[in-house]
Amino acid sequence: MLIRTHNCGQLRETNIGATVRLAGWVNAYRGHGTGLVFIDLRDRYGVTQVVFDGEQHDPDTMKLADHLRNEDVIAVEGTVRIRVGGENPKLVTGKVEVVVSKFEVLGKTDPLPFLPDDSGSGGKLANEDIRGKYRYIDLRRPAMQHILSSRHRLYQSTRRYFDENGFLEIETPILYKSTPEGAREFLVPSRNVPGSWYALPQSPQLFKQILMVAGCDRYMQICRCFRDEDPRADRQAEFTQIDLEMSFVRREQVMEMMEGFVRRLWKDMCGYDVPPIPRMPYREAMERFGIDRPDTRYGLEITDISEVAARTDAAFFTETLAKGADRPRFNSKRGVVKAIRIPGGAEKLTRKLTDGYHEFVRSFGAGGCAAVKVNAQGDFETGIAKFLAPVKNELFAVLGLRPGDTVLFVADLYAVATKALGELRQKVARDIGLIPKPGSEGGPWNFLFVIDFPMFERDKESGRWIAMHHPFTAPRDDQADAFVHADVNDEITIESIVSAGYDIVLNGQEIAGGSIRIHDRTVQSKVFQLLGMTPEQAREKFSFLLEALSYGAPPHGGIAFGLDRLVMNFVGTANIRDVIAFPKTQTGQDLMTSAPSKATDEQLRDVFVKSTHEPPRG
Ligand code: ASP
Repeated sequence: MLIRTHNCGQLRETNIGATVRLAGWVNAYRGHGTGLVFIDLRDRYGVTQVVFDGEQHDPDTMKLADHLRNEDVIAVEGTVRIRVGGENPKLVTGKVEVVVSKFEVLGKTDPLPFLPDDSGSGGKLANEDIRGKYRYIDLRRPAMQHILSSRHRLYQSTRRYFDENGFLEIETPILYKSTPEGAREFLVPSRNVPGSWYALPQSPQLFKQILMVAGCDRYMQICRCFRDEDPRADRQAEFTQIDLEMSFVRREQVMEMMEGFVRRLWKDMCGYDVPPIPRMPYREAMERFGIDRPDTRYGLEITDISEVAARTDAAFFTETLAKGADRPRFNSKRGVVKAIRIPGGAEKLTRKLTDGYHEFVRSFGAGGCAAVKVNAQGDFETGIAKFLAPVKNELFAVLGLRPGDTVLFVADLYAVATKALGELRQKVARDIGLIPKPGSEGGPWNFLFVIDFPMFERDKESGRWIAMHHPFTAPRDDQADAFVHADVNDEITIESIVSAGYDIVLNGQEIAGGSIRIHDRTVQSKVFQLLGMTPEQAREKFSFLLEALSYGAPPHGGIAFGLDRLVMNFVGTANIRDVIAFPKTQTGQDLMTSAPSKATDEQLRDVFVKSTHEPPRG
């Protein structure tokens, strides 16, 4: 006999009179001592009320029914009837109930650490660690089941779109060799080759490029990537990407294909029609928003007021402006003065907040942040007001000031002032409530392609050049010559080279990043050289890539979407752990399986590894 004939979300009035079998978890029970026991039976599909009527059962059976507790697993057989106690409009099955004729306990539960109830027992969800340890209970919550099924729908929509567009889904190795994508890697010792190690891939970057050399033309993979970095609310050491690569394409074609994907995905996931996605050059993003992934849902744009500031007597402006004055505009080490106008800020921003902004920008390396208010008479007030009086009209014009506004200023080197104001802009937006709740279905969804990134930037710690995307990103077509001929010591030229990279930004979050790749071995070698690798080091690490590029490589380019982040947007959570079935904690632990765990001496010996770890004493 079947364990069940229907699921718990299936029965409707049309089933009245039918004999059915249901199975699931006891979601709630009410034994009123009236000779009736009501059970809400739950499975992935919903909840159905089942009724044990004392008149139809012997006392022993009723006693058993009366002893059922939340999360026991049972199967019942019975007849569907109209719900005698009246409809429950909260349930899709709420018009009917099943009067039980037979039942069986399939799995009795021990007392539970918590109940899988979305509203939480007592109004609050159990602590995240407890839920992590008993993930299988937490995953029973309808909200978690919804997330798992949304994620599943996202996989299916993705695969359909790329299949329709001729992409081949190809798996690439997990046991791999180091890739220099910036993050620390996870290492796996080899037993067969003593003293050697695999690295888990930070992404399948080189494999997908080599698949293009192999003639695969269009590749996709929903793949796992590993980066041994500290997890954050929106980052896990082990995460999933939708990884893509195309041959014989220019930047615009990759972007069009991806725009089509975004449009399809949003339509499939929440019926939203994504309007044409604007393209914004990196420089414009940095100038207007101070960040390469601007949140364009609100204004608070940044304005460079260096020219006006130069005409004041304020030493904190003019001294900054004298720094690097011979460098080109936008050069990271040229002094600038930038400002943000906060409409209505005089009222919305308390003194405490504006004082706090001074400290806030300092944490991004800026010297500080000055603030002035525009009073009702249209005069500057407080802070540095007296220094601004001589240039009042010009400032009003460039910033579009109105009575009641506040202006925040930062004077510093271009890179520092831009970064500090970019962060400050977001903080102010949070402080005055300009950011809409994320992910509410239907938006607001603000998409943006950011293009024309610099190829290289200086690493903050070592001062060395690093690739802004990754070292396989090509210069933009019209920059290739300048790059090939550039002197690697010519800092200003190197900083000005623009790449063929692109990011997709959604509401201030990078959801995808990619580029046209270098397919010329000489250009690739020059990038390695600039990044400080000797030809020997480059060969040792990447001989396979350099060789592949020398055996007939097509022009190619691609992108990768962060799948977990996409799901977070669709289900409206800011916690990446919510969208991964078995996530890790902030310290990279799996609380359910207790990974990572100790290896035995024998296991270590097998792989020729000795532990130098000394457990803490005491
Ligand atoms: N491999 C890159 C990343 O993981 C994406 C790409 O360039 O396609 O960020």
